[in-house]
Amino acid sequence: MKITKIDLHIIEMKLKTPFVTSLGKVTNRRGIIVEIHDETRATGLGEAVAFSTPWYTEETVETCFHIIKDVLAPLVLNRSFEHPEELFDRMKTVRKNPMAKASIDMAVWDLYAKLLGQPLHKLIGGTRENVLAGVVIGAHSIREMLQQIERARQDGYNRVKIKIGPGKDEKWIRVIQESYPDMDILADANSSYTQNEELLLKLDDLGLQMIEQPLSQDDLVDHAALQKKMKTPICLDESITSLHAAKSAILLNSCKMINIKIGRVGGLTEAIRIHNLCQEHGIQVWCGGMLEFGVSRAHNVALATLPGFSIPGDISSSSRYWEEDITSTDIIVKDGTIFPFKGVGIGVELNRERLKQVRIHHEIIYK
Ligand SMILES: [Mg+2]
Repeated sequence: MKITKIDLHIIEMKLKTPFVTSLGKVTNRRGIIVEIHDETRATGLGEAVAFSTPWYTEETVETCFHIIKDVLAPLVLNRSFEHPEELFDRMKTVRKNPMAKASIDMAVWDLYAKLLGQPLHKLIGGTRENVLAGVVIGAHSIREMLQQIERARQDGYNRVKIKIGPGKDEKWIRVIQESYPDMDILADANSSYTQNEELLLKLDDLGLQMIEQPLSQDDLVDHAALQKKMKTPICLDESITSLHAAKSAILLNSCKMINIKIGRVGGLTEAIRIHNLCQEHGIQVWCGGMLEFGVSRAHNVALATLPGFSIPGDISSSSRYWEEDITSTDIIVKDGTIFPFKGVGIGVELNRERLKQVRIHHEIIYK
């Protein structure tokens, strides 16, 4: 593969329902679709999943755009690759910026699979016939949350992850459990309990499937101390930024589960390595979501076909978030599962008409 050209499309779409977390509210979602071309005019698609502001991790849409265009593109343009894994080492000279790197990595994996004429999920060793779907709900009030859960139930989801924080936790969870006694509930704290550990311990008897990222991103040691005190499994999200971070978390017993996000760990190559490490150590994994568009969603479905993804992830249907996505084929959830696409690569193409409608900036990069 020789990369000859990169198209960067910055797009913006309004979410059907605003998404509320302990750290902020997302109403309009911006993102970058990365389209990589090779010398045979084959293309691969990736997506930079950073948000517009740095509430989740340090990266933003603007920092990703700068890093992809000015730093990473010169490292990959007019260079040849035998395998997408080589890209990971090539980009190692750039510190951090995992979401920017992941967007290129995803596009090269898609291109590589297309050139081999294979679906990406088969190429990476996926074994699951269908992927377990789930939905994430963040709301301002318990009433709003119950309405959204009801909608998710009617759409066939059997598992919901709710966004919690101090004051929006024990009472909310009890009300949901009374209304839906047979539903699996997971709670995501997005680091909001850093100074409030005693509040977390109160949630330990509620039978939650897991509590995600209760403490800060860099608190692997504090998470280990907390996991010792709690029977509810702790799942780490923001803390797991690389294979190295996953190794440290496992060594310290900081968690019993890891939420793998391709963007947060710097690409599919690293995501697969983290999956394999977790399998060796009996750590459960599932695939997290970033309120992303159809390109990243299709990559998530491919990743989640790997054997270790035994818990429903944050992968839901396109129609849950968007009136119309930018990809040619929608992801559809049926009875709580998603069937991987049969086509080559990630199995979806861009819907050019829709892309034009929602695109706010387009740049083509040559060397
Ligand atoms: Mg999370």
